Amino acid sequence: MTGTMPHHLNLVDGEWVDGERRANHNPARPGEVVSEYALADRNTARAAIEAARRAQPGWARQPVAARMEILDRIGATLLRRTEELAVLLAREEGKLLAEARGEVVRAGQTFRYYAHQLLQPQGEVYSSTRPNVHAEVRRRPLGVVGIITPWNYPLAIPAWKVAPALAHGNTVVLKPAELVTASAGELARIVAESGTPPGVFNLVMGAGRVVGEELLTSTAVDGVSFTGGTGTGAHVARQCIAHGNKRFQLEMGGKNPLVVLDDADLEVAVRCALDGSFFSTGQRCTASSRLIVQANIHDRFVAALATAVSALRVGDPLDPRSDLGPVVSPEQLAQNLDYVRIGRDEGATVVAGGEHHPDEGQFMRPTLFTDARNTMRVAREEIFGPVSCVIRVNDLDEAIDVAGDTDFGLSAGIVTTSLSAAERFKRDASAGIVTVNLPTAGTELHLPFGGTGASNHGPREQGGYARDFYSVPVTCYTGW
Ligand code: NDP
Repeated sequence: MTGTMPHHLNLVDGEWVDGERRANHNPARPGEVVSEYALADRNTARAAIEAARRAQPGWARQPVAARMEILDRIGATLLRRTEELAVLLAREEGKLLAEARGEVVRAGQTFRYYAHQLLQPQGEVYSSTRPNVHAEVRRRPLGVVGIITPWNYPLAIPAWKVAPALAHGNTVVLKPAELVTASAGELARIVAESGTPPGVFNLVMGAGRVVGEELLTSTAVDGVSFTGGTGTGAHVARQCIAHGNKRFQLEMGGKNPLVVLDDADLEVAVRCALDGSFFSTGQRCTASSRLIVQANIHDRFVAALATAVSALRVGDPLDPRSDLGPVVSPEQLAQNLDYVRIGRDEGATVVAGGEHHPDEGQFMRPTLFTDARNTMRVAREEIFGPVSCVIRVNDLDEAIDVAGDTDFGLSAGIVTTSLSAAERFKRDASAGIVTVNLPTAGTELHLPFGGTGASNHGPREQGGYARDFYSVPVTCYTGW
C-alpha cells in the first residue's frame, strides 16, 4: 500500500531514507492501516551510527543556549500538536484519547524540562588535600547513544531518553518498537525540524533482531538505553558487554503489588486497584498485577472491585465513553487469554472478565482473579494485559513478605489509614517506587524512575538522575 497513505521514513544524517514499506494497523479496527513505515536494514543502522559518531563532537561543543533552544522548541511543538498526535497515538497503540493526550503533554514537558536542566550545576568542586591544587569533577557526554524502546509509551519513553541524551551533548540513534513507528516517525520529524544538526538525532525503524542488534554490536556506540521485556534486556546486557563493554541501562518489567490493609478506605482501595490494574489496558510496567489484601477487608474489597471492573466499558479509544481500549496486538491478546486459562488451571477463580470481548478488534474484558497464591504463574509472571489477581494475607508482615516475594521490583503500593504501616511499607518494600494511597502506576517526570531485581539494571531514568547515564564524570586536579 503506497501513494496517499501517510508514511514515515528513517532519518539518517539529516536525510529521510526509504526502504521496504510495512503497514501498522489500528488495534481497535484491525482492517484499518494507520500508516506505513520504511523498514531499515543493518546498512541503514550502520549509516545512522556513523552519522551520529561524526556529529557528536560538534553537538557537544554547541553553546548551551543553542542546545536549550532546540530542546525547548521540540517540547513546544509537541505541546502545540497535542491533539493531532494524541489521535495518532490512540489509533496506533490503542490507549484512550485522554491518556494519549496526557502522554503527548508529558513528552513535550520532558523536552522542556531537560532544556532547563542545562542551567543546573554540571559538576562539583572539592577541597584538595594537597596545597595549591584545585580538585573538581566535571561531566562529559557519554558519546553515541543507542535508544531501544517498547510499544506501550510510544512518545513518552523515547522522550525521556532522547531529551536527556541530547541535553548532555550526546548524539542518538533511536530504534522504536515496530508496532509504533508512526508515533516515532512524528517525533523524528519534530526533532529534525527544530534545528538539530544532521546526524545528531537519527531514527531507524525495523526488527530488534536486525537494527536493534546493530546498535548492540557496533563498537561505535558508547551506550544503550533500553526499555522492554526482561528476556530482551538480558540479551542487550550480554551483547553490550561482549561488544566494547559499552554502558547500558535497562528498564524492564514488573509484577507490582498493591497491598490493601483492613484499615484502608474501601473507596480509595478500589480506585487505586482499578486504575493501577486496568487503565491503559494493563499495559504498563508499573501496573498493579498483584492485589495483596488483608483478611477482614478481603470480601468487601473483592465484591466492590469486581462490580467496578465489570462496569468498565471496553471500546474504541477515540470514543469518550470507553474506559479501556484494545490490547496492542493479536499476539499479546492470545498471550493474555492464555494466562487466563493458566490461572484457572492453577486453581484461581475468575470473578470478572476472563474472555475476549465480542466486538471486532483486539478487545479483552478486564479480568480479576481471586483465590490466587503468590506461587502461581499468574502471580509471578508479567502478563502485560488487563489481568490482576487477589492474594489474601493475614497481616502487614505477611503482606510485606508476599509483596517482596517476586523476581521484579519496580513499583509497590499500600492502601492504609495507618501512618506507621505506611512508614514501614516505605522502609521495607523492595521496589524502586513506593506509593501510599495512590495507584502503583503514575509517575512524575522530574523524579527518578526505575526498579530493583529483574526490573532494572543501571542508573535511574528521568529527572536529574538521568545525568548518571548520559554523562561520564571526569575527576580533574589542577596544580597552581
Ligand atoms: P520487547 O523486549 O519485546 O521489545 C522492546 C524493544 O526491544 C523493541 O524495540 C524491540 O524491537 C527491541 N528488541 C527486540 N529484540 C531485540 C534484539 N535482539 N536486539 C535489540 N533490540 C531488540 O518488549 P515490548 O516492546 O514487548 O514491551 C513490553 C515490555 O516492556 C514489557 O515487558 C514491559 O514490562 C516493558 N516495559 C518496561 C518499562 C519500564 O520502564 N520498566 C516501561 C514500559 C515497558 P521490535 O519489537 O520492534 O522487534
